[in-house]
Amino acid sequence: MHIRESICPLCGNPSPSGEVCGQCRALSTRWLECPPRVSTVLCPTCGARKDAGGWSDLQLEREELARQLIKRAIWLHPDLRDVSMNIALDEISTNRSRAECRISGILFGAPVEGSCSLEVELRREQCDRCSRISGSYYEGVVQVRATGRRPSQRELEETARIACAVEASMTESGERLSFISRLEEHRDGIDIIVGSQRLGSEIATAISRDLGGRFTTHPKLVGEKAGRQVFRITYSLRLPRYSRGDIVLVSGRHLEVLGVDGKNIRCLDHASGMVRSVPERQVERKAGHKGDALEWMVAYRDGDLLGVLDPRTGVTKEVRIPRGKETSAGTTVRILEDGDLLVLLE
Ligand SMILES: [Zn+2]
Ligand SMILES: [Zn+2]
Repeated sequence: MHIRESICPLCGNPSPSGEVCGQCRALSTRWLECPPRVSTVLCPTCGARKDAGGWSDLQLEREELARQLIKRAIWLHPDLRDVSMNIALDEISTNRSRAECRISGILFGAPVEGSCSLEVELRREQCDRCSRISGSYYEGVVQVRATGRRPSQRELEETARIACAVEASMTESGERLSFISRLEEHRDGIDIIVGSQRLGSEIATAISRDLGGRFTTHPKLVGEKAGRQVFRITYSLRLPRYSRGDIVLVSGRHLEVLGVDGKNIRCLDHASGMVRSVPERQVERKAGHKGDALEWMVAYRDGDLLGVLDPRTGVTKEVRIPRGKETSAGTTVRILEDGDLLVLLE
């Protein structure tokens, strides 16, 4: 009686409980299931992948992608422990690979080993974004203009850089359809044509935050789609008359524009080092941009006068330096020329 209870009724090997032993259970249990084929859809233009009906930009190497698909497709018994899976991939064509998989583990305390082979297929289909781009689809236009002038080349470049940075960060956060369709430079500014209204409004917000100015929003009904009205939005942005980095003349002093706040300009007075707010109407004129300043070598100092060498001609000129500023011969200073006048910056 005692002996019969402690052996496996199937194989006769010892079984402490007297029930079917782990090895016999493992032998009669199906623990591995493998479909003959797995496939996924990739966009041939941008590499996006269609997963569970939606497109995503998460890009993987072809082999890594195949391994991931295989691991997801193979079913293993939930009681299988210490699983080890070895996948050997063999490319059959540009779109297909054959995978040989060897799987081993411990099931009910008994080691098991199995193998299967499957085909991995990569199908090609143009993604939602690429088909919108190729179909010239757009939902909005950010129109960048400036008050009383054309935006400078610097502002146009800055505008394009900001727009692309906003696009990149939205794409990264998963907003695939927030793409810039194209940039169009006009005589009076630049138009940024965008694939989503959110991108348009984010770009307009970022540009006015970085370069100043304000924008207004103008929706226009362009049609109907599935019973819903479809709008295109124009974000009309006007850069301020004076922009950051401009050197302006106010009551005979040269000030650097730090920012524009409504009708007031925040300025840095390089001569005193003070920041102050000046009403825009007090600006006599724009004298230049700090980016146009050049490095001049200091030849000598005589009291509050500096002798500086024109970097283009080598001719020495004099410029008055603000009280308390430490500058000595041999160093360089940044100077902007306003006509015959030298403006010492910093
Ligand atoms: Zn047994
Ligand atoms: Zn694509």
